[in-house]
Amino acid sequence: MGLMSAGSALYRALQLPSQCAVCRSWPSQRLCQHCRTTFAATKARCPLCALVLTTAQCLQCLRSPLPLAACWAAVDYAYPWSELLARYKFEQDTGLGEPLVDLLLHTPGVGPALADLQAPDYLVPLPLSAQRLAERGYNQAWELCRRLHRRSRCRATVSARLLLRLRHTQAQSELPRDARQLNVRDAFWVDPLATGQLQGRQVMLVDDIMTTGASLAAAATALLEAGARSVSALVIARTPP
Ligand SMILES: [Zn+2]
Ligand SMILES: [Zn+2]
Repeated sequence: MGLMSAGSALYRALQLPSQCAVCRSWPSQRLCQHCRTTFAATKARCPLCALVLTTAQCLQCLRSPLPLAACWAAVDYAYPWSELLARYKFEQDTGLGEPLVDLLLHTPGVGPALADLQAPDYLVPLPLSAQRLAERGYNQAWELCRRLHRRSRCRATVSARLLLRLRHTQAQSELPRDARQLNVRDAFWVDPLATGQLQGRQVMLVDDIMTTGASLAAAATALLEAGARSVSALVIARTPP
């Protein structure tokens, strides 16, 4: 880390509790109440794919259902969340992790899904390939998982070892919508040594952004084929169709 970036990381750390990451108001929490109400209003979402519902039944799920038992998203992938998530992911502004997880925990249904009797056995971050992990230095989904686990007192085991990402796929964000499914097919694999612990268990996948759902679907399929009873997903932001 260069002096400049070390300096700005320190500066950021020092100003964490004092300035809103969205509107820059000061003094404030990292995400002020005004921005929370303005940009993170609760919307009625499809319980299976987390898209905002515009009709009584989700047309997306009628057309091509995902292999998920349930799916929650806190917000739409749009301003200001797209920018915040990019800062969280690429600039490793981990100070944003807490307010982002906060959004998720305030999303209707998420608290009970993590803490109730039907709570998952495993919380699993969507893995990065070894190559991408080396480039980026950390997996933001793993970070989110750990925070969620701590904040929700969920009894699930957080495991980054159950699910592996074998192929180094092109970044989904660089691909057109219809190429994404092909890009991630067979990219996920369950560790053969872990299939025993997976039998009949419920898994909740965690990621920052869900675009078409192709990656989550491929990961869920791998887990189900390896013996998981059901797979659900939790994401911060869902890209509108
Ligand atoms: Zn604000
Ligand atoms: Zn749906």
